[in-house]
Amino acid sequence: MGWAVADRRGPVAAAQEQSYPVRSGRTSPDAGRPGRDVTSASRVDAVTTSPHVSAKLASFGTTVFAQMSALAAQTGAINLGQGFPDTDGPTEVSDAAVEAIRAGHNQYPPLPGVPALRAAVAEHQARFWGQTLDPDTEVLITAGATEALTAAMLGLCDTGAEVVAFEPTYDSYAAAVAMAGAKLRPVVLRPESDGVFRFDEADLRAAIRPSTRLLLLNTPHNPTGKVFDDAELALIAELCVTNDVIAVTDEVYEHLVFDGTHRQLASFPGMAERTVTISSAGKTFSFTGWKVGWACGPSELLRPIMTAKQFMTFVNAAPFQHAIAVGLALGDDFYSNYTASHLGKRDLLGAYLRAAGFREHAVQGTYFSTVDIRPIVERHPHLPGDGVAFCLALPEVAGVVAVPTQVFHDDPRHGTGIIRFCFAKTDDTLTSAGERLVEAFA
Ligand code: PMP
Ligand code: GLN
Repeated sequence: MGWAVADRRGPVAAAQEQSYPVRSGRTSPDAGRPGRDVTSASRVDAVTTSPHVSAKLASFGTTVFAQMSALAAQTGAINLGQGFPDTDGPTEVSDAAVEAIRAGHNQYPPLPGVPALRAAVAEHQARFWGQTLDPDTEVLITAGATEALTAAMLGLCDTGAEVVAFEPTYDSYAAAVAMAGAKLRPVVLRPESDGVFRFDEADLRAAIRPSTRLLLLNTPHNPTGKVFDDAELALIAELCVTNDVIAVTDEVYEHLVFDGTHRQLASFPGMAERTVTISSAGKTFSFTGWKVGWACGPSELLRPIMTAKQFMTFVNAAPFQHAIAVGLALGDDFYSNYTASHLGKRDLLGAYLRAAGFREHAVQGTYFSTVDIRPIVERHPHLPGDGVAFCLALPEVAGVVAVPTQVFHDDPRHGTGIIRFCFAKTDDTLTSAGERLVEAFA
């Protein structure tokens, strides 16, 4: 198809080079004016290309999440695109933030993070995953997982270093690797007949080479919903050890596992000393805007990350750091209810997606469901089979916003017809969105 979105400038820039005849009419894709060009009809205007952008970042535009949230705001469609909850997290935690502000925790915290939060992270890691950490030297607080990931690339990679990651990759990975002057070597995850995404062992073996510096692993995995199993993790660990590769793991969905169990790569033989484990409070406590994250691991690996981090933000979110320390110490009930309520949401939205005619993939974890749009497009041939164009049409056709996953691939031929819905929403919102999708497509 020659998708310009391959260059990660964002779906709108790419779609503007294509035009898809899509009929309008939110409740029925078959009704309405024929031959409407949805791409020019789209009012998303946040395409960021500039003659002044550095070569490193020239191929990155506005993130798909910002673009799709803008599309939702502009069209009034239900936003199941960008991953964030539509309700606040626990009041104990927001109250603790207010108290922290009133108590005067408003100046720069220490560079590695406030001691109470570092202690709480270490306790959390031991309580849930059996990971033993010294809170003074083996925990670093960051501005969300995003900063930890970017600082890891900048602090641990020399120019030209290679970083292996499973694709589709969360969108900041490719940009962080590019900012570090490193090179991303993707290993593609493909959906199999049971709906689970898996990689080919030969692809992973081929991707890891003498020039590989880092392996970046996200489990539970956004956007596929995959939870890497023990056999997969054992293979990844063995290859990291044999090839002397440092692992960086992104575990922001650690408490959203529905099928299988969350296992840390750091727990596999030989991995504790070569793994940086990253997570954040955004998802677990439903305060994505607070941007409190952390990196855990041996101090020799954390120190270079802190070196980079100190010149990015230095520190952040002082009162929220205190509040998240309170959150991490919440009882087991909080964590089990959080998982159980999202399991219910997964099943609620999943039933609608299947009833609408999408082919849903397995959602083993995260709060995302990915679907294959091909069965819908077969029944409604005037709809675009390309995920970007389909998502641009979706607000008009069904009044819902989703995210195309091909933008998370180096080669967008992978994931072309796969789109992602976020189910971290109230049951009412999911029901309304689900009814719209069924009405539009079933
Ligand atoms: N990694 C993944 C896989 C994510 O989905 C997200 C979004 N929560 C992040 C990192 C970024 O996390 P944060 O908002 O804590 O920076
Ligand atoms: N992690 C969220 C998602 O995957 C988005 C966060 C962001 O917009 N940067 O949708």
